[in-house]
Amino acid sequence: MRPFSFSPEPLEPGRCREALADPACGGYASFEGWVRDHNDGRRVRRLEYEAFEALAIKEGERIVASAIERHGVRRAACVHRIGDLGIGELAVWVGVSAEHRDEAFAACRYIIDEVKHRLPIWKKEHYQDGDSGWVNCERCADAHQVFAHDYSRQVALPEVGESGQAKLGAASVLVIGAGGLGVPVLQYLAAAGVGRIAIVDGDVVESSNLHRQPLYEVGDVGRSKAVVAAERLTRMNRELRCAAITQRADAGNLDALVAGHDLVVECTDNLRTKFLVNDAVVRAGKPAVFASVHQYEGQLQAWLPEPDWPCLRCLWPEAPRDGMVGNCAEAGVLGPVPGTVGAMQAMIALRILLGIEPAPVRGLVVVDLLTHATRSITAARDPACDHRAPGRALETQQTPLEVEFASLDDARAAGFELVDVREAWELALDPPGLDTGLHLPLSELLDGRRSFPAEGRRLIVCAHGVRSLSLAEHLRGLGRAEVCSMRGGIAALRD
Ligand SMILES: [Zn+2]
Repeated sequence: MRPFSFSPEPLEPGRCREALADPACGGYASFEGWVRDHNDGRRVRRLEYEAFEALAIKEGERIVASAIERHGVRRAACVHRIGDLGIGELAVWVGVSAEHRDEAFAACRYIIDEVKHRLPIWKKEHYQDGDSGWVNCERCADAHQVFAHDYSRQVALPEVGESGQAKLGAASVLVIGAGGLGVPVLQYLAAAGVGRIAIVDGDVVESSNLHRQPLYEVGDVGRSKAVVAAERLTRMNRELRCAAITQRADAGNLDALVAGHDLVVECTDNLRTKFLVNDAVVRAGKPAVFASVHQYEGQLQAWLPEPDWPCLRCLWPEAPRDGMVGNCAEAGVLGPVPGTVGAMQAMIALRILLGIEPAPVRGLVVVDLLTHATRSITAARDPACDHRAPGRALETQQTPLEVEFASLDDARAAGFELVDVREAWELALDPPGLDTGLHLPLSELLDGRRSFPAEGRRLIVCAHGVRSLSLAEHLRGLGRAEVCSMRGGIAALRD
């Protein structure tokens, strides 16, 4: 029996149950969902279920697998009906067998809740009065792409128009941090039609995040923020290409991440990260929007790559150390504070992408959410802050020789073109569909039959990151400062 399946035929719970029999188990729990004769005060005559089957089966299998892992049960399965169903018919069946009953109940409950929330399954109710209607119709429209994402209300603005919308569609934005500030930033940028968004966040969703990060649900606790956010955003806007980078932004990966994007939005609550991001965008000459909140106050600062534009270090030559200003965990915060400041950050980001006049404030915008007072503090470029000087970064200035990525898509999202230097026979062992980019076997590079591309930000990959590292070192020696090796190679992607 498959962990999750659809059945066009009536379900036989006795048959389903047989597959879960296990001599090591002392408990079995099952849930049956039946078609009832009323809903929302209307008399229901019959139902139709329709599903986006391929997607639903994949996601359904993930739900059952995570129920087994989270609750430590032995076996679990779920079958959902599709097609026409009469009153009293079995619509969905869940069964779980476990060593003890508590886990069986909990896993069973988890599966049915997740199936209800996550799977693209739609229900049409036929009523006694002859009427009928889809329940959860907007999800139906979404998955079937009946409606294209409609930007007419923003295109109507003279500052946006069709050309501005096209600019947004062609733009790629790096959002660092998917927390209290990052959530509204991500939602508004994705909704506005920004074409590519990469989300960098190494944390998982915690229950204490939910009051101020309403993109996440209680069922997401423990999952990667970047991954959950990317899922939600692509569900909201199907035109968005979104990459989830499940690492913390640091000196080792920031240059590579920043390079692949048109704009950076810094949304962490970590001062050290803010200064590292400042240094990376100043080096790369990329615009950025910074923000932070403290209790009821927010601060915003835009950086534009113009000769006399002040950066974070122009305002604070002595970078404050971590812990000097409390973060949300320590100081406490009400959700609308980062919500408002994040929305303002998204607004500045859109202004920069669209080139809307006037340009952002050169300096700080301070907003007080108790008095609603907003102050703009203009600042000048500090002549002592040399935006090109080496060594101004907290750590390594140069793009590191070795970089780490959770997936090849993340590497591409970071602006790298891949070069796979493994031999042909090694590629045959790859999982189907793995795209490692340009294939230049090292043996052919060494004997001169092939040559390495003369330019571009190249990420060299091999099986374990050994051959790629020595080739990258060799190329660096020839002046190719933007060539890197993927640490751990293809093998690092598998675990
Ligand atoms: Zn500066």
